[in-house]
Amino acid sequence: MNDELYLEALLCEEYEKLLKECQRSLDQWNERSEGMRQTHENGEAAGRELLRLQAGFAKSYTVLQRHVERCQQCQLVARMNQNIGQLSMDTLAAGVN
Ligand SMILES: [Zn+2]
Repeated sequence: MNDELYLEALLCEEYEKLLKECQRSLDQWNERSEGMRQTHENGEAAGRELLRLQAGFAKSYTVLQRHVERCQQCQLVARMNQNIGQLSMDTLAAGVN
């Protein structure tokens, strides 16, 4: 059996979507703060914009964590990731219960 393929089949689509959103907010925040550093933009408006982007990232991260907390599929994958190398049907069965 191919363990990697098996893990992939179990990946949660909702998690993937939320993770992408999270990554996108983080990228926006990083890019914007890097841009401000380069242009020495540090006025009140710039500070507010950075705070807004930071809050956007924090929000999507919270949404992602909440999803993982209540999604059985994600919890199963998380458990399996901890057990990589010793993945077996027993691990799976233990994860479901
Ligand atoms: Zn999920």
